[in-house]
Amino acid sequence: DLVEVDAVLHEAHDRVRVAADARQIDVQVAAQRGLRVFGDLELLVTAVANLLANAVNYSEAGTRVGVGARQVGDAVEIAVTDQGQGIPVGEQERIFERFYRVDAARSRATGGTGLGLAIVKHICANHGGEVTVWSEEGRGSTFTMRLPVAVDQTADDLAADPEPGVAAAARGESP
Ligand code: ATP
Ligand code: MG
Repeated sequence: DLVEVDAVLHEAHDRVRVAADARQIDVQVAAQRGLRVFGDLELLVTAVANLLANAVNYSEAGTRVGVGARQVGDAVEIAVTDQGQGIPVGEQERIFERFYRVDAARSRATGGTGLGLAIVKHICANHGGEVTVWSEEGRGSTFTMRLPVAVDQTADDLAADPEPGVAAAARGESP
């Protein structure tokens, strides 16, 4: 299915709203308009919501979390940024493994199982994309999902049609 990225971001935000409010974390959503990817709406919402849940859980009260989407070349980049505790460089590969948590004692307080990022990784792979992390301890983290952008094939085909009337119509001009 063609999925509107804007809708994915807002739906994911809705799912973490209660948790974010409880911790007085302000979540800001910013998506470039009209971005689409091919895939499953529910799975994509789950992936972004998992990243947002982590951003909220591993940050101090009163900090800010942002989620944004933009097109970079042939890809849609969905980035979730927090001002939280960050992740040591040596652990940044392993956090995508099932059940892996950076600091078991510290993480236990947040009650997770260590599956969230493994699920995000699978969903991205199943959509022909990937997820990466940038993080600095004490400063925060940014998780970026990179998915192939869906081009509107019908409009492209029409615009490329050599027949003048058809091409003009595709450009929205009257004959
Ligand atoms: P679950 O998501 O299954 O409830 P979880 O949050 O522990 O549990 P993951 O989402 O897979 O599992 O994250 C794995 C670990 O990576 C976390 O336990 C935490 O230590 C670290 N982590 C993930 N996201 C962040 C973040 N934004 N800031 C700091 N640490 C993070
Ligand atoms: Mg998690």
